[in-house]
Amino acid sequence: MALMILDTCSFCDACREECPNEAITAGKPYMIDPNLCSECVGFYDAPECVAMCPVDNCIVPNPSHTVDSD
Ligand code: SF4
Repeated sequence: MALMILDTCSFCDACREECPNEAITAGKPYMIDPNLCSECVGFYDAPECVAMCPVDNCIVPNPSHTVDSD
């Protein structure tokens, strides 16, 4: 399971350093490596990048990496 960052990303860099798995790469838009993202399980009660992101609904579940598809 993993999250993904949508094109509404404003490249603010609020999320990247907060990721406990170093899964986020800077770019336009920023990218989450689905092989590294754990949706913060084991680190936080909720995804930390979502909490830090100032854009509503910019970071969402990656449909190719749900619990069922992984
Ligand atoms: Fe990193 Fe957690 Fe965001 Fe996944 S959900 S990219 S592990 S901060």
